[in-house]
This record gives sequence, structure tokens and C-alpha cells, in this order.
Amino acid sequence: MNGVLDPDVLRCARCALRLSAATLPRDLPAGVCLCVDCLLHPPAFAQAVAAFDYEPPFDSLIQRYKGEHRYVMAGALAHLLYCAWMAEDGDAPAVQALVPIPASRASLRRRGFNPASELAAALGAQARLPVLRTALSRRREDGRRQASLGRRQRESAVQGLYACRRSLSGLHVGLVDDVMTTGSTVDAAARALLQAGAVRVTVLVAARTPAAPSRD
Ligand SMILES: [Zn+2]
Repeated sequence: MNGVLDPDVLRCARCALRLSAATLPRDLPAGVCLCVDCLLHPPAFAQAVAAFDYEPPFDSLIQRYKGEHRYVMAGALAHLLYCAWMAEDGDAPAVQALVPIPASRASLRRRGFNPASELAAALGAQARLPVLRTALSRRREDGRRQASLGRRQRESAVQGLYACRRSLSGLHVGLVDDVMTTGSTVDAAARALLQAGAVRVTVLVAARTPAAPSRD
């Protein structure tokens, strides 16, 4: 099983955003496939892998996982992600440790668990990789929920949000989150990992949000 993403769909090689011929930047060198954002503002991470797009029918898996507190679904989501990761390229064996995005205190109170952390634990078990659950921490708490923010607001909200207080010297890190929307969160977290000495960050997410016409 190779995940549920259609391998024939065009995607940004950096952030896994689904592209169409109409939205693909012009004048790209041959063999390069990047979205406009990654072309103009390259993210700190080297690559992103997603198990599925955050749209029907698979978005319901995430909604049940997070919204209905079904943390036992972490294993199934991790399996889909692991299959997509293995099918993507030969990058998987090069990752040496997994690090989840830390949840806010408000999110932990609301859900009772950190979806990214449980997903990382299940993925680590499948990939036989260590999971550094507490490598990243938040420098501050923010009362606003990310889901309610637009792209530029998200970028501002997460700038300098994450800190890594342990050395990751020389490590290729797999950064795990449940959903990647604009990429602002994983970009901010990847910067903290690189500052801690990581040599490369691969983002691993269950779901990738497709670009929406209303996205600012
Ligand atoms: Zn991109």
C-alpha cells in the first residue's frame, strides 16, 4: 500500500502542495516543481511528505482523531503516513529521529492529548526511529487558535514560537504534525531544529491542506 495520494498529481517538491498547470510558476528549470511560495520564500525544511490531502473523504479521519479525542487512531494515521513516506523516495532511512510539534496548553486541556505527539510515537514504532517528544517547546502561549488565522497572521503568530533546548548536532530530523495548512508552523519549528544543530529537516504530516481560492 502506497498511501492514498495520487502519484500522478503534480505537487510542490518542497511543501507537498497540490499544484495545477495553471498555478505552477513559469520559467522553472527543467525537473524543478515548486509552488510560488517555496520559490519566492524557501522554507527551512527540505521536504514535506503527506499521507493524504485534507479534504473529503480523508479529512474526516483527522476530525475524528482530533475532535472526538480518538487518539487510538494515531496508529492508523501513522500507517498511512509511513506508506506514503516509503513510496515518496529513499529519504526515509536517512531520517534519524522524529520530533513532534508541541501543542499549546489550551489545546492539551481541550483534547487531553497532543495529536502530533501520538502520531510521532506511532510512526516511530513503525519506522523504528527514536521519538524526541520534548525536543521542541513553545516559548509562549497564544490565546488565538491557528485554525482561525489567515496565512500572514499565522506566519506572524508562529515567528520564534518554538525552541529546541537539546543538541541535534548532525541529525536529519523528521518533524511530525497531524495537519500542514500554510506550512508556517512547521517552518518555524524547523528553524528551531536547525538552530539546535540538525542538518536537515523532513516534514511528515498525515494531512496536507490544498490551496483554497479564499486563502490569503
Ligand atoms: Zn511549496
